[in-house]
Amino acid sequence: MYRKTISDKISLEGIGIHTGKVSKITFLPAQEPLGIRFIKQKKYSKPFIINANLENVKTTARGTSIGEGTLVINTVEHILSACAGLGIDDLDIKINSCEPPVLDGSSAEFTKALLKANIKEKKGQTKFFLKFGKQFEFNEGKSFYKTKPHHGLRFKLKFANKHKLVGSQTIEVNLNSESYQKEIAPARTFGFKNEIDCLLKAGLALGGSLNNAIIIDDEQILTSSGKLRFDNEFARHKLLDLIGDLKLTGFDFKDIFIEAGYTGHKTNVDFAKLLKRKTVKTI
Ligand SMILES: [Zn+2]
Repeated sequence: MYRKTISDKISLEGIGIHTGKVSKITFLPAQEPLGIRFIKQKKYSKPFIINANLENVKTTARGTSIGEGTLVINTVEHILSACAGLGIDDLDIKINSCEPPVLDGSSAEFTKALLKANIKEKKGQTKFFLKFGKQFEFNEGKSFYKTKPHHGLRFKLKFANKHKLVGSQTIEVNLNSESYQKEIAPARTFGFKNEIDCLLKAGLALGGSLNNAIIIDDEQILTSSGKLRFDNEFARHKLLDLIGDLKLTGFDFKDIFIEAGYTGHKTNVDFAKLLKRKTVKTI
């Protein structure tokens, strides 16, 4: 199989969930096998490039931020998730702010845009995957991750919260482009009302609203349409985030079953580092 990029350029615009400011991104075809890169045009200087990889992770609080030097791009996980879900290896992303637009809080709009830009194989550039190498478990606090061999790529993720309207949820899926688009991409980000009040006080989530997040109040679950897209939408969104954070390894995966629970961006990134060391490169 060959590496994949897109054929055409395409732009998306909207507000960033944390900054609350309008942001524009443009997906551009990438000829070189250099992975996913964010490109920021700075005034009076040449464009600044940040490679989406584990070495460049800056923070993992309320989203995954990557950066080089003083330049940081926040909340990159939903775009990376769309790239991983669609099997895109190389992509240049021009961005005019420090955070991509949140859009509807899922990766559905990114996925649609990338498909519209015509994903193509790059003849002559062989694609390498990471595949099962050694069975291992990784635990950090309440979070757990386990791997075992599998024919294909399969994920199982558990999310639980003591809130009476949430409880325990699980999603289990064989991951490929079709299942990603149908089962994972539409799952939206969510937050608990009391948490959101704290975030706002800390100057975060300034762009958050029912247009881009599900809000869980004491007595009800609030969404823009009045209903959830899936009964287990929270578990699905947590898997969307994990898939995005694992793309920071620079690879897609095959022949591995990854089971995880109580995940967060910090533990996802720590697991990604470990996974990169314990898997083997294959075509
Ligand atoms: Zn997310």
